[in-house]
Amino acid sequence: MRTEIDYIILGGGLAGTCMARWLLARQQRVLIIHDQTFPDSSYISGGLMEAISGQFLTLTWRHEEVLPYAIQFYRDLENMLQSSFFHQNKAFRVFNSSEQYDLYQRKKTRPYYQSLFKSTLPASSCYQGIHMPFGGVELEASYQLRAPLFLTAMHAYFNQLGCQYQHPFSFNDLQVSQSFVSYKGYKAKGLICCEGAHVRHNPFFESYPFKFSKGELLDFFHPMLPEKTSFNGPKLLIPMSQGHFRIGSTYHWDNVSFLPSRDGYQTLHGHLSDMLTDSFQDHRLSAGVRCRLRDFRPIIGPHHQQSRIFIMNGLSGKGALHAPYLAQQLGRFILDQVPIPSDMSSHRFSHIFTPLNAT
Ligand SMILES: Cc1cc2nc3c(=O)[nH]c(=O)nc-3n(C[C@H](O)[C@H](O)[C@H](O)COP(=O)(O)OP(=O)(O)OC[C@H]3O[C@@H](n4cnc5c(N)ncnc54)[C@H](O)[C@@H]3O)c2cc1C
Repeated sequence: MRTEIDYIILGGGLAGTCMARWLLARQQRVLIIHDQTFPDSSYISGGLMEAISGQFLTLTWRHEEVLPYAIQFYRDLENMLQSSFFHQNKAFRVFNSSEQYDLYQRKKTRPYYQSLFKSTLPASSCYQGIHMPFGGVELEASYQLRAPLFLTAMHAYFNQLGCQYQHPFSFNDLQVSQSFVSYKGYKAKGLICCEGAHVRHNPFFESYPFKFSKGELLDFFHPMLPEKTSFNGPKLLIPMSQGHFRIGSTYHWDNVSFLPSRDGYQTLHGHLSDMLTDSFQDHRLSAGVRCRLRDFRPIIGPHHQQSRIFIMNGLSGKGALHAPYLAQQLGRFILDQVPIPSDMSSHRFSHIFTPLNAT
């Protein structure tokens, strides 16, 4: 006898957790499968969510829809779980060069940017313990998800509901038919793959055009830096709690693994020494793997041949920001047949696969 459920979700990181929450809120019976032997990136994520990102002060993809949706999603969950894992931060952009300052001057005159920049900080030797030789600007709309707290609270909730199975998923045990999938003792309408970088070992999606990069973060203690304030300069200083901060992250496209490296440590330690005016104590280096598609957009939707196998992946360096919105888009596609916008749809890659019957 098989237990009949609606959907199996593979992965308990930000993607799988948000997907599971969305489906549960729609009264779907789900089973979330994840396992600690498969390291994830979500637990180490800084969880920062901002409308402007990158060295070129770029507006984040779909930020006008994605950011408000994520804010509401996490706040609702805080209320539901009576837990605290999401808050607004102060955020400063620390200019790296006079060119970046000039770029800011040009961008701030554009209509939409005006609402995202607050006060400009003049070039000076330091501001709140941070070197600011080219000045900086305070940003509007910066939020932070404490990803480990969020995931711990959500996994405890899934446990209470009895819909979580901590277990290494094996595709050898999966059967897929036209109308259902089955895995061990479960039969479901579909499998939703949210494995982050482990998609490299997923036989359905491994040949999609993913790109992987390793990122490292260095934790440090500095009692004088302001709480709930991030500084984005050559690297990003992320507030944690009670004098604990992180600096990150590095980008490595070769030898991509979840293992921290000496090189990563030296890079981050060097940046930290340059950014801070005072001494600090570093204490832990962690590493994760970002996963993106070649066009820098996430991917959601069905497999190009197996309509019962879905994916939500490619969250790259924006998992906290994008996961709630992508879960909603994929959920509405699966349950309500609402089309997925083409810029995030899995269909945009269908043309690269040779049809099965091609000679
Ligand atoms: C250094 C670094 C800093 C970052 N900082 C930020 C930030 O400040 N803000 C932000 O929004 N994003 C940030 N990100 C990005 C964010 O971490 C990712 O976008 C997000 O974690 C991706 O989530 P995911 O659920 O897709 O994958 P993951 O978190 O990797 O989760 C994958 C899940 O699948 C499970 N799994 C996979 N295969 C199997 C299997 N066969 N059996 C069982 N379980 C399996 C794993 O156990 C895990 O639960 C950062 C990333 C890195 C690397």
